[in-house]
Amino acid sequence: MVAGPDVYICDRCINDAAGIVRNDLTTHKPAAPAAASPTTRRTSPSRRLTPVEIKSALDEYVIGQDRAKKALSVAVYNHYKRVDRDHFSPDFEDVELEKSNILLVGPTGTGKTLLARTLARVLDVPFSISDATALTEAGYVGEDVESILAHLLHAADFNVERAERGIIYIDEIDKIARKSDNASITRDVSGEGVQQALLKILEGTVAGVPPKGGRKHPEQSLINIDTTNILFIVGGAFDGLGDIIAHRMSTNSIGFTADMKRKFAKNDPEILRHVEPDDLLRFGLIPELIGRLPVVSALDALTESAMRDILLRPKNALLKQYQKLFAMDGIDLVFDESAVDAVVERARALGTGARGLRSVLEETMLDIMFDVHEMHEVGACRITRDTVEHRRPPIFELRKASA
Ligand code: ADP
Repeated sequence: MVAGPDVYICDRCINDAAGIVRNDLTTHKPAAPAAASPTTRRTSPSRRLTPVEIKSALDEYVIGQDRAKKALSVAVYNHYKRVDRDHFSPDFEDVELEKSNILLVGPTGTGKTLLARTLARVLDVPFSISDATALTEAGYVGEDVESILAHLLHAADFNVERAERGIIYIDEIDKIARKSDNASITRDVSGEGVQQALLKILEGTVAGVPPKGGRKHPEQSLINIDTTNILFIVGGAFDGLGDIIAHRMSTNSIGFTADMKRKFAKNDPEILRHVEPDDLLRFGLIPELIGRLPVVSALDALTESAMRDILLRPKNALLKQYQKLFAMDGIDLVFDESAVDAVVERARALGTGARGLRSVLEETMLDIMFDVHEMHEVGACRITRDTVEHRRPPIFELRKASA
């Protein structure tokens, strides 16, 4: 008897089964590559997109953030070059290409998750999002770090080969910073402990993953996933990092007055662009983790015009989505210019980046959408500034009589 995790099979059955497979292979020769199933087609390396192509695909969905898009495009291009290095001439084998995991730093709601998600869509690879705050060091209450691989496996429909070329986004990485005042009384199992636990899978290891996620149980069979070719993008808002950077920059430069330093820290919206490994260390990331995130890119806070563009321009822009919903009921939805301005103003006041746009619109549109299905005679609905600011009813136009 040969024992597996949950099953046993005898040597005769193994022989018989092998015979069946062999027969099958000789009678049904593998089909031509063109007829391969969508899954196999996807796992085989497709034509590699160039950084310019990757960036222009990102441009369709993500507004602004040009520097981050460029950094991501190049990092991803190099990453998949490394993954598919077998397809290059053996001359390139003498130099080991290191993995280029990516750290995205930037205020909340500025597009970090959106960038990672869009990237996966453009590259047609499995993608999953995990939250660093849910993780704890193995053996403590919370999720083991391997659970993030379980999410990816799930996203890849349990196709291990596909999962091993996927992209994982880990959010809120800043929330697992080492707590400097947590000297030695208690173990820092959700901070530094998690950072330590992440190191191995970020770098590349074969991890045993509980297929259903959650904790590993001794009786559960595990699926082995090699993380060497998985691209990790980690992101966080890093509140307070700006001050650390400003402090370093001002103490390093000669001739700054105290007043200038203060102004620099408070007012430079692009301060995060100057981030260096030392600043991240000071923030509370451990050096080994920083070392495994060689590409660091900062996202800018969204300006008023970027917010406007987010409402109107992307392929799946919020206003376009509402217009589609209304069109399905035969109603033409129009937003006044001043109504768009009002949405942006209110959203900016919420301080949650572009996420605020959705909340403001949801609130504005709720009552209208509640009734819209009943309005058989309405042909068009115009949202004004008053509708957004004071929840006044929109202006309805009746359907043309010919209809
Ligand atoms: P975070 O930076 O906190 O990860 P997200 O990427 O989750 O932010 O953004 C939240 C929502 O705001 C997204 O679903 C997206 O619709 C919108 N959004 C944020 N930034 C942008 C952007 N630069 N371009 C287009 N939409 C954006």
